[in-house]
Amino acid sequence: MYEPKSQNITTTRTTITRADRERLLGQRGVTVWFTGLSASGKSTIATRVDEMLAARGRHCCVLDGDNIRHGLNRDLGFSPEDRNENIRRIGEVAKLFTQQGIIALTAFISPYRSDRDRNRAIQEQRDFVEVFVDCPLGVCEERDPRGLYAKARAGQIQEFTGISAPYEAPLSPELVLHTDRESEEESAARVVEFLEQRGYLRAS
Ligand code: ADP
Repeated sequence: MYEPKSQNITTTRTTITRADRERLLGQRGVTVWFTGLSASGKSTIATRVDEMLAARGRHCCVLDGDNIRHGLNRDLGFSPEDRNENIRRIGEVAKLFTQQGIIALTAFISPYRSDRDRNRAIQEQRDFVEVFVDCPLGVCEERDPRGLYAKARAGQIQEFTGISAPYEAPLSPELVLHTDRESEEESAARVVEFLEQRGYLRAS
């Protein structure tokens, strides 16, 4: 899909396979890609799912927007091109975790459908689960846990999703959470139930 800049690069294969690691971990690696407006509840639910699965002896990692922007993606801003590259890199990181048998929970607004679809396309079909954290803009704006909507309305933040930048809702996500009507606990439990039913919580 993307041509690497370098030539003469090969792929190294380890002797411990993905299936070996999944047997050790007792689960199937997967990327659970949460998408939704700021304050819709992505981080809250990803964190709760992580806790619920840890309590069952399962291994996740949470990749969260702000944390990644402090490190790996600190060279990127919020222009369409930078958002695009931000999401591309996260997709690659999530894929690396997934291929090690880890349940990667990603919490990024990821407003562009094409970016999310591309991240799906770089993985095996079963390895990518899109979860739409669906919450009306008005409710997100009322919550405003970090005061970002207020700043965006006051013109202090440019290109803010939902206010001055677009959000493209998923067309066929595996799961939709309605966080204006469900409790955090209910939404997180629905994600865990989905993973359980689809066989991700045991080695295949
Ligand atoms: P995001 O990661 O999407 O920006 P956050 O998880 O950081 O969103 O913030 C969501 C806020 O909404 C939190 O303060 C959380 O406590 C609150 N909230 C209220 N109801 C819910 C719910 N049903 N699911 C998730 N978060 C909720």
